[in-house]
Amino acid sequence: MIEHDVLVIGGGLAGMSAALHARQAGADVAMMSKVYPTRSHSAAAQGGINAALGIADSWEVHAYETVKGSDFLGDQDAIEILCSEGIQDIFTLEHHGVIFDRDDEGRIHMRGFGGTDKSRTCHVGDMTGQTILHVMYEQLLRMDVKSYDEWFVTTLLMDDGACCGAVAMEIVSGKLEVFKAKSVILCTGGCGRVYEPSTNGLIVTGDGLALAYRVGALIMDMEMVQYHPTTLPANGFLITEGARGEGAYLLNADGDRFMQNERYGATTLLEKASRDIVSRAETIEIQEGRGVDGCVLLDCRHIKDRILEAFHQIYELAQDYANVDITQEPLPIRPGMHYIMGGIKTDVDGRCYRQNGDGVEALPGLYAAGEVACVSAHGANRLGGNSLLDCVAFGRRAGAHAAEYAKSINPPNVSDQAVEIEEQKIIDIFARSTDLRAPALRLEMGEIMHQYTGVFRDEAGLLEAQRQIREVRNRYNEISVHDKGRVFNTDLLAVLELDYMLDCAETIIVSALARRESRGAHTRTDYPERDDENWIKHVVVYQTPDGPKIDYLPVTITQWQPEARKY
Ligand SMILES: Cc1cc2nc3c(=O)[nH]c(=O)nc-3n(C[C@H](O)[C@H](O)[C@H](O)COP(=O)(O)OP(=O)(O)OC[C@H]3O[C@@H](n4cnc5c(N)ncnc54)[C@H](O)[C@@H]3O)c2cc1C
Repeated sequence: MIEHDVLVIGGGLAGMSAALHARQAGADVAMMSKVYPTRSHSAAAQGGINAALGIADSWEVHAYETVKGSDFLGDQDAIEILCSEGIQDIFTLEHHGVIFDRDDEGRIHMRGFGGTDKSRTCHVGDMTGQTILHVMYEQLLRMDVKSYDEWFVTTLLMDDGACCGAVAMEIVSGKLEVFKAKSVILCTGGCGRVYEPSTNGLIVTGDGLALAYRVGALIMDMEMVQYHPTTLPANGFLITEGARGEGAYLLNADGDRFMQNERYGATTLLEKASRDIVSRAETIEIQEGRGVDGCVLLDCRHIKDRILEAFHQIYELAQDYANVDITQEPLPIRPGMHYIMGGIKTDVDGRCYRQNGDGVEALPGLYAAGEVACVSAHGANRLGGNSLLDCVAFGRRAGAHAAEYAKSINPPNVSDQAVEIEEQKIIDIFARSTDLRAPALRLEMGEIMHQYTGVFRDEAGLLEAQRQIREVRNRYNEISVHDKGRVFNTDLLAVLELDYMLDCAETIIVSALARRESRGAHTRTDYPERDDENWIKHVVVYQTPDGPKIDYLPVTITQWQPEARKY
């Protein structure tokens, strides 16, 4: 058995921020990741990280625009913290060594992004996530944080109603080990790959969401799935919003800048409107026959110089995967699954919650931060550039709180027996011999989710998705693996990950069925209007022996009352 005060599960930006601040608060901290930490999905973030550093900007304007972007579902206390404290977080990152791009006066350069006419997205070329991750990792090494690289968590451990550690598999040997901890922080990222295609890395499989769901944590706003307006049709790769932020146009087959159309409600910000609005507009253009092979066109020709200066990565992606030189011709793109606004319900200190009678209570010892969590700073639609900030700011707060909590409690009771239960699960998987493999079932699940729970939904489609996902769940127990060895068995990991993903799919569908209105990224064609009278509330789902149960929590409103949303 391995022991630490604080166990951070996840080595992306949220995990690194949590580990660093728990360490700074004096705790003995370990960080664990199923991939080498700097390969976490955070490394794929191209566009940048928001902070109202500009002279003509303020954290209050940033907060208001985040609330508006969230379609008034975000908790405004969390948003105020994100936007006000986030400013110092950027300076801290810079002092740690993040070489943000500069403007002509030597200040941090900020680019335009969606949902605002301000430039407030700090960046390092179009490799922001990767740069920040490497700098943070250096800081963790400097602070002697123990890093368990390529370890895969299979279950959380509970003692007397409190979370007290996890069982994890060392991938290189296949050995299972109990990790005992006074507090556990889940920073396992989103669940993008529950959809096919997705902009997310193949490792983004919702593990932490399912781990928390299984110990009774509340999972909130899972119906809020963000489709990003510009992804490549060939493989779902992302073309950063920064391109539209710099002035790129969206054109339909007739060559019209369709965002100018009144019906999309964005005649001022046009292509820079929020993602839910632009993705819906594109989908309508395509559905009504003004698309080009299931896509619309991103036109960067008039911003050629900026592309060559600050967007090397997308220039190359378009060249390599679409065979398009974006400085010479428009690029076919379409909306693609990108981000989950929902996640494990937390408060602003990262604490997780569970149902208790008619109310809710904190789930002692369990924390979450980053994309796996729902604090909720993004409500029904996240603004681009706000996720990295969420990871840094709420990772910091969760780390600090988890360290203090660990100081205040006695060591929990943990036995090694949990290893045997996990071992048995693996033996059972090895014992099966069928033709059914995890990747085939995973693809089926992803396509069902994309078809019925994408940009537009309705009750009939959601019920069909539920039926089909249940059927996939039934067949899950027939999956077998080719590789029955223990060393670096990715075949086995794929089976374990699919189990997590199916839990995520279930929570998305039941939450989308529950919300009978259209808000932000959740558009129900059978309930096309936003309904503030009945639906300014969060949908929460939790696991019971009879299946998922739905409940509701109030939205925190501090200073911005809901209003009509136009861009
Ligand atoms: C292509 C792309 C571009 C993006 N661009 C931007 C952008 O420009 N600006 C912005 O603000 N946001 C952007 N986002 C969103 C943002 O990058 C993510 O929301 C954020 O990085 C998530 O960070 P995280 O720390 O929560 O999770 P991740 O970075 O996904 O890290 C998850 C960690 O958990 C570990 N893990 C998962 N499961 C297990 C397990 N079972 N056992 C052990 N470890 C496990 C993984 O190994 C990994 O270390 C982008 C996202 C994508 C996909």
